[in-house]
Amino acid sequence: MSTLIADVVIVGAGPVGLMCAYLGQLCGLQMIIVDKSTGPLEVGRADALNARTLQLLKIVGLFDELYSMGKTCHTSSVWADGKFVSRQSEWWDQLEGCFHKYFLMLGQSYIEKLVDRKLKELGSAVVRSTSVDNIEIKMDSCLTTLSNGVKIKSNYVIGADGSRSFVREHFKIPFEIVRPQIVWAVIDGVVETDFKKVPEIIVFQSNTSDVAWIPREGNLDRFYVRMDTKDFTFGQALSKINRAMQPYSLKFKDIVWFSRFSVKESVAEKFSIRDRIFLAGDACHIHSVNGGQGLNTGLADAFNLIWKIHMVLKHGKLDDLLKTYEEERKPVAQSVIETSGQLVRSTKDSKTGTHALDYVRLVEKHSGNITGMGIRYGNQGLVGTRLYDFEVSNGSRTCRVYSLLDYSKFALLVFDDYEVNFNIPEFVKVIPVSSKNSPYKCKAILVRPDSYIESIMM
Ligand SMILES: Cc1cc2nc3c(=O)[nH]c(=O)nc-3n(C[C@H](O)[C@H](O)[C@H](O)COP(=O)(O)OP(=O)(O)OC[C@H]3O[C@@H](n4cnc5c(N)ncnc54)[C@H](O)[C@@H]3O)c2cc1C
Repeated sequence: MSTLIADVVIVGAGPVGLMCAYLGQLCGLQMIIVDKSTGPLEVGRADALNARTLQLLKIVGLFDELYSMGKTCHTSSVWADGKFVSRQSEWWDQLEGCFHKYFLMLGQSYIEKLVDRKLKELGSAVVRSTSVDNIEIKMDSCLTTLSNGVKIKSNYVIGADGSRSFVREHFKIPFEIVRPQIVWAVIDGVVETDFKKVPEIIVFQSNTSDVAWIPREGNLDRFYVRMDTKDFTFGQALSKINRAMQPYSLKFKDIVWFSRFSVKESVAEKFSIRDRIFLAGDACHIHSVNGGQGLNTGLADAFNLIWKIHMVLKHGKLDDLLKTYEEERKPVAQSVIETSGQLVRSTKDSKTGTHALDYVRLVEKHSGNITGMGIRYGNQGLVGTRLYDFEVSNGSRTCRVYSLLDYSKFALLVFDDYEVNFNIPEFVKVIPVSSKNSPYKCKAILVRPDSYIESIMM
């Protein structure tokens, strides 16, 4: 059997692997993505895209289609003693440089199906029902052996193969798991209730804040219910929901997904090996679902990694650029685990008996992580911060600056008539901008393909 050649092999076609493959295709890289499953997820798992993810999706042409399928939500509320005692959305309202100040409530399966289809259209469909038997790192390449006997020589391998990652274990990367003994029931379904439905995330305050109601796309709703034991029935979860929302009651007309989620927390010791093998998504960080950060953090890994591989492979950037993947993303993963860990523990322990309010206050405190907008790389002023989204004139029309970004290139935003008197490499797209509309006071800004600021010219 002959050996296939690729730029990158991706193990795992969950949302993170799919996004890596799609971004690589946009950059003109030869990607091969394999998954042991027969198709994308049908139901369940993640339920929300945060504001930063929505900005990133805009750059790569995936926003509009997903937006039309989801439901927006930007209010977190607390219900106690038969009434709403708090309704909070300030952390979204205060966000600057952002056109979509909310979560887009949409099941993970929609994202997987869309990107899976895009890959097919680009002639790079996922190789399904196939796992990986072996990966070797050679002098200047990797050799991957698939379960069907096919061998692939590639420059890089990405392990996006989820929390039980074969790639991580194969390379013996330590991944010590903390288990805080907290178990949730998760139910997606169509409900029938006399409680007046609102498009808000509601945390119910009873003895503990052990029930949360999450609005979803279409006529779907999700409930998270913290259970006291690992083994429980649907009826037990439903009776907790009904106890929490008294005097109202609720039943399910249709149950689309009913699952158990045991909280586990870990960050892999390394996110890369010899700048050849990379881990992304749940393969290198897992945590509780509180704050909805798993999928969003994994997608941000993909956006951080692929342009770096592209620049090294096709535009002569030094390998050192690849080291910044772990340097930038590992601290983010650690802070996400800290945030979601505080949130999930607050549902159980409260000195004052105000669990739900404590929970919403914690969401407010960590809103930078939860909206994704507070993530930055380094601490040098504007460098390393996300580019604000703002309106620019483009010929005769006005558009968002994010709609002009191209993931395969850096962007040089040139303000007013500033004269660029240096050579612009082909991997830089020049975007003229009028400073009238800009939140920035400078002559030019160089922006990375993942829309973080690289440098500023004053
Ligand atoms: C109940 C629940 C609720 C959640 N809610 C949220 C939420 O609200 N918001 C949020 O952001 N996140 C949430 N998450 C987390 C989110 O689902 C994960 O973070 C996300 O799925 C991670 O994506 P991934 O691509 O890294 O891994 P996965 O989605 O796990 O995908 C890994 C893929 O790799 C494949 N694979 C594994 N091993 C191999 C192998 N050896 N060879 C080939 N293929 C392999 C698998 O088949 C799978 O397709 C939730 C998760 C659960 C379980």
